[in-house]
Amino acid sequence: MTSATLSNPLIPGMDSLEVSGKTVLVRVDYNVPLDGTRVVDPTRIESTILTLKALLERGAKLVLIAHLGRPKGQRVEKYSLKPVVAELERCLGRKVVFAEDCVGNAARTAVDSLQDGGVALLENLRFHAEEEKNDPKFARELASLGDCFVQDAFGAMHRAHASTAGIPALLPSAAGLLVEKELKFLTGVMEDPHRPYVAVLGGAKVSDKLAVTLRLLESVDAILIGGGMAYTFLHAQGIEVGKSLLEKDRVEDAKGVLKKAAEKGVEILLPSDHLVAAEFKADSPVETTRTQAIPADKMGLDIGPATIELFAKRIRSAKTIFWNGPMGVFEMDAFAKGSIAAAEAMAAATAAGATTVVGGGDSLAVLKKTGLGPKMTHCSTGGGASLEFLEGKLLPGVAALAKKRV
Ligand code: AMP
Repeated sequence: MTSATLSNPLIPGMDSLEVSGKTVLVRVDYNVPLDGTRVVDPTRIESTILTLKALLERGAKLVLIAHLGRPKGQRVEKYSLKPVVAELERCLGRKVVFAEDCVGNAARTAVDSLQDGGVALLENLRFHAEEEKNDPKFARELASLGDCFVQDAFGAMHRAHASTAGIPALLPSAAGLLVEKELKFLTGVMEDPHRPYVAVLGGAKVSDKLAVTLRLLESVDAILIGGGMAYTFLHAQGIEVGKSLLEKDRVEDAKGVLKKAAEKGVEILLPSDHLVAAEFKADSPVETTRTQAIPADKMGLDIGPATIELFAKRIRSAKTIFWNGPMGVFEMDAFAKGSIAAAEAMAAATAAGATTVVGGGDSLAVLKKTGLGPKMTHCSTGGGASLEFLEGKLLPGVAALAKKRV
């Protein structure tokens, strides 16, 4: 990494670690969706393979630590990381030892059994309440399993946990290749965007995206707002939104965003038409409004065709794009058109030279659905972490690594 910023201070890369013949503790983000005992979407596992292979090629043994779901400090079988082993073995092309616990005898035995080039995956960190409390004793116990530490779980770095903030204080530590890539692209859109820079925000709630929206006003040329959050903004402008999602307690905040945008000369584009239905149901008859207003007995569930055209045109002419949140209820086919059209416009813009960074689980789900993920410049593996990073916060996991720099 060449330049330091407030939220991205210089942090050591893997080259700074002596790993040959050593045991490297690697924090990975394997918080993957499971269907019983099968991994439904291996993207997060695949995203760590470059880092793992690079360390193995340099002669390291690997001890992987990760979390899955929210077991809240208890051993909960449905949150076991065991189903990840088969998928990881497939991706890595080598055997992976699984330890039934991340600390204690089970962990120690698995680590001690590793031959050169061996890989162990330890059971869910969050089976221990100490992980989320960043308990010093727990962090020390984890740290005792390795000679050095690589942080590659970008999606967990906005939390001050033992495996993000605790371990780096105890071992020689560095960012993995995935974390480096995340920081590079997110810093790029924040600090040095090519213009026009267009942010596309959607999803259910204004409250989740208020902070990032305010921060984006400092750097973007335009924000296109769709999805459920658009209705609070329309309501703030005195437009009737019927039964659509509305966060009454955020209307003043939405007014604040509109005012600040006007002061800064940032354009805020809201939907000019909508796909509406009487009920939140996949088979509810769909109508298209011709106006911004929504009838009292209807709810807006996707952006309409005129908005699609307007948004797609702005996206296609952008040179930098940041996208977080679907334009409608994309899980139902009838209301997926807006999100798909936005993704297609982004793919076209990227092909024409724009930098497109996508964050957030639901935007990534749209890309998965359309197969357009590879057409984006960067798909962030950390929804919450990428939003907090773009809010300008110094993430605890980043701060912990930055302190390690000599
Ligand atoms: P978020 O996690 O805030 O990005 O929200 C994602 C969710 O927003 C998805 O599950 C979408 O179905 C939902 N969503 C998008 N547009 C709407 C809408 N118009 N009404 C209700 N929910 C929506």
